Amino acid sequence: MRDLTKKCACGRPAILLRRYEGRYYCDHCLSKQIEKSFKKTTGKNHLIKKNDKICIALSGGKDSSSLLYLFWKVFRQRRDLKIFALIIDEGIGNYRKECIKEAEKLCKKLGIKLYKTSFKKELGITIDKVAKKTSKTCTYCGVFKRYLLNKKARELGATKLAVAHNLDDEAQAIIMNVIRCDLKRFERLGPIPGVIRDKKFVPRIKPLRQIHEKELYLYAATNSLPFCSKECPYSHDNVRRDVRKLINDLEEKYPGTKIQIVKFYDAIIKKLAIQKKGKLGHCKKCGEPTNQEICKACELLERLKNTKKD
Ligand code: SF4
Ligand code: ZN
Repeated sequence: MRDLTKKCACGRPAILLRRYEGRYYCDHCLSKQIEKSFKKTTGKNHLIKKNDKICIALSGGKDSSSLLYLFWKVFRQRRDLKIFALIIDEGIGNYRKECIKEAEKLCKKLGIKLYKTSFKKELGITIDKVAKKTSKTCTYCGVFKRYLLNKKARELGATKLAVAHNLDDEAQAIIMNVIRCDLKRFERLGPIPGVIRDKKFVPRIKPLRQIHEKELYLYAATNSLPFCSKECPYSHDNVRRDVRKLINDLEEKYPGTKIQIVKFYDAIIKKLAIQKKGKLGHCKKCGEPTNQEICKACELLERLKNTKKD
């Protein structure tokens, strides 16, 4: 990636070629560009309002560590805003424990309060145990994580839950929902995904959705952020892996593909005006917001109780 013979427009050695722009960037100018994109997505979509209490969903990886750092860098002078972080231990061997250590280092460095919780404490289950009963580990993990992030963020008084979905994640999610013909989920993508009309639902915001994953890695590395680069041992979601490869291949051949997919999505959603129309009820079992009688987390917990091994 680093070609020391190439120079940024400012004259410093380049660390990245943005092929879709045909421009080289040094670490300094790339950081500036990323901060600009963060501000643009946040401002244009009105992601932050006066007096917001923002809970950053941390995982200890490069994306969420960059997200936390960007919030600190851009908003730390805003006296009306409160920024704190939340990390969830899913119970995956030592994997998340190591990531939590990096998250603690970063929060300490920036002086940001970090709250921690776990699937074990809140749901009485670990992903290691789930994996013994089903091969659909990521489905269970994703549902439980969304459930707990919302519940905990709300209990901590958050008015926004910031998640670290980058451009690659967003483009993959769009294509995956097309492949699965899942219009409900498709509607819920975007800079403020989900149904927001419910007092128990903390609106989720995605300020990194215009930034390439590769650039976030460089941002975290060049700003010396502590982060965990290990991969989850259960990350073998076949559809996502295939879609990721497909989009990366297209990006390689036709630079700008990822940006265009997300732009196309935003244009469709605007035209169809289908976003954020739903209304939520509350789960009969746990009281958390859902559009079903029983929420997905309670349904899956029940299913686990009745499953030996699929
Ligand atoms: Fe959970 Fe799957 Fe992500 Fe691992 S890869 S943390 S199991 S969603
Ligand atoms: Zn429930």
